[in-house]
Amino acid sequence: MTSIPNPKCLLCGSEKSKCYKTIESFGHPVSYYLCQNCGFVYQNEAETIAKDEAFYEENYRTLYQDSEEPTAKDLRQQTLRALDQAKFLRANHFAPKNVLDIGASTGLLLETFREEFGAEVTGVEPGNAYRATAEKRDIQMFSSLESLRETNREGFDLVTMMHVLEHLPDPLATLREIRQELLTSNGALLIEVPNFYAHDSYELAHLSCFTPHSLKEILRLAGYEVKAFRKHGHPRSKTLDLYIGALARPIITENEPTPARHECCVPLKRNLSMLWRKVITRLRPKDSWLGA
Ligand SMILES: [Zn+2]
Repeated sequence: MTSIPNPKCLLCGSEKSKCYKTIESFGHPVSYYLCQNCGFVYQNEAETIAKDEAFYEENYRTLYQDSEEPTAKDLRQQTLRALDQAKFLRANHFAPKNVLDIGASTGLLLETFREEFGAEVTGVEPGNAYRATAEKRDIQMFSSLESLRETNREGFDLVTMMHVLEHLPDPLATLREIRQELLTSNGALLIEVPNFYAHDSYELAHLSCFTPHSLKEILRLAGYEVKAFRKHGHPRSKTLDLYIGALARPIITENEPTPARHECCVPLKRNLSMLWRKVITRLRPKDSWLGA
């Protein structure tokens, strides 16, 4: 038996945590921890791997990175999402010229931004099948951030990360790296993740469970200033704020940010919000899950 190290909080780095929830995802047990220092809920990936390394290696990557071609329904949803993100940028008077999408999937967001803003577009996508589809849309694609960096190209004025941060083993380090190495000083980061206070969130590949508080905190710790923040359910729900998103700018300062601020009563807020979700779904089923 390999010993499992104490899980380190993916937001503040503290090892003071307690087991919060164990679920089953794709037939596999997954444990989430609650940080006693900052209130963040996160998965101990080392434990998941240690429990069943073969399963993780074979199925996890296949499930999330090289799955089948997206269905027509997936494509329609992705297009609606992309148009909604373009609208959010416009509402905040931001029209990008040179966009990098990390976790670009089949390139629909980039294609939309190219049409909407006339922007130059580049994508990073590890999944071979998805990346190939994006390349067919005439988008320059890379399989990893490392391979993009090797090209030594100039910075981007917009970096987008849609439903990617919650999958990363070190989300804070990646956000810092984007600010230091990929964004121009007057650029912006557009980011969206599932909202722990409305979205189920628990899933094998979701290592972090973000709340509005912790998304703002991780951006602040990584050296960004949030310019616009929103909660919404588009295009899946009219009643549930399933997603949280931010437009953030890099801060130019020598000062280190102050430590992560604690969010209180996370389990209670989660329970109440999931109860509310049940009630509103019962009362307004059609508006709660559009197209279900
Ligand atoms: Zn923490």
